[in-house]
Amino acid sequence: MSHTSASVLHLDLDAFFAAVEQRSKPSLAGRPVVVGGVGGRGVVATCSYEARAYGIRSAMSTAEARRRCPQAAFLAPRMNAYRASSAIVMRLLHDLSPLVEPISIDEAFVDLAAADLSVPAAAALAADVREQIRQQTGGLTASVGIGTSKLIAKVASDACKPNGLLVVPPGAEIALLHPLPVRAMWGVGPVTAEKLTRLGVRTIGDLARLSEPDLIALFGQAAGRNLHALARARDSRPVLADREAKSVSAEETFATDLTDPVRIGREISALADRVARRLTAAGTAGRTVTLKVRRHDFTTLTRSATLPHATQDSRRITALARSLAGEINPDGGLRLLGVGVSGLAAFAQADLFTDQDSPALPAGQDSPAQPPETDPTADGLAGPPAWLPGADIEHAEHGPGWVWGAGLGRVTVRFEGPTTGPGPIRTFTADDPSLAPTPPPPLPPLGG
Ligand SMILES: [Mg+2]
Repeated sequence: MSHTSASVLHLDLDAFFAAVEQRSKPSLAGRPVVVGGVGGRGVVATCSYEARAYGIRSAMSTAEARRRCPQAAFLAPRMNAYRASSAIVMRLLHDLSPLVEPISIDEAFVDLAAADLSVPAAAALAADVREQIRQQTGGLTASVGIGTSKLIAKVASDACKPNGLLVVPPGAEIALLHPLPVRAMWGVGPVTAEKLTRLGVRTIGDLARLSEPDLIALFGQAAGRNLHALARARDSRPVLADREAKSVSAEETFATDLTDPVRIGREISALADRVARRLTAAGTAGRTVTLKVRRHDFTTLTRSATLPHATQDSRRITALARSLAGEINPDGGLRLLGVGVSGLAAFAQADLFTDQDSPALPAGQDSPAQPPETDPTADGLAGPPAWLPGADIEHAEHGPGWVWGAGLGRVTVRFEGPTTGPGPIRTFTADDPSLAPTPPPPLPPLGG
């Protein structure tokens, strides 16, 4: 809801994945760090501010990022570690208000739900939550914007990044918005921004000078109206505490009941394919695959299985749905089949992490004595374990560390962690029985 007081808060952790890596790996503090797909078709998920200085950005190909800053550390994501830090942050936000709407793993709106919150009171509250986050997550920083609507809160937190706090007092919305470039407007994507720029519309103030009929003619009914309202800071979208459990599904009723397992398998594949295409089109991915079956006698049953990571991959969804079909007896015939994917990630980044099929490349600036090289056979099923750069690992004798680089049958480990200083590097054979993967070490709370 649009408020008469500045009581909508937007919080966004700064360079989140890269920040967790820098705090988990002391040798990377203050260095360019790129987290994302490390394979040949990998894409940057997040990079540290040191890497941004080289022009590296989210969604850039990892190959391009390597060209721009070859000395950066290129790490595969450790979602378990990021989820643990995210859970701490979301819990702190829930302490502020029950109205918390997570937008992604590192971003949320909070409706402070207090109609008479003064600007100094809101600023004090935000300063306090930022400090608690810093302490309880081992030093992660968040940027916070506060305003009378989601639009203003979001634009404010973007404007004060990194490690900033900006409270926009009621009445100051237009003064914040209008000097900003149109692409700073929440909801204006690159295509719309480019179309506007071609029309000479550079700032949100320029946008506000276009009439509603003109904007509708340019962008259609819904988007045109939206742009017209947002350019005037009119935004009545409420903070939604409980996002609906969303799912994407496809089902088919057959003219004659199916009894042939081969045909049933083929129909499931076609349905899974439709679901995968819709997930891809929506820019999302899900973890739980459900198979729905209606028998000849109209009894309906469902079977579900949950993957460790969200997927939008047709082959994975098909494989899981077909294995679920194996639990169902088709005797008598099936009249309906359905495949659904739920537990959707609110953020499309989930699919960036499936691209881990190529051998790891070395991370880091100070090359080891024998730099690891890519080994085209290292990702074979029969070969030694494919260690991903950045992964948590433990050596029976030397203790915990992380995979600094791997390839050519070797793995280089840096022995350091969140509670140590920068540690030494050692190289082992990739199948060394003394090496084992470990869970991510927690980031210890800061003292004080
Ligand atoms: Mg962020």
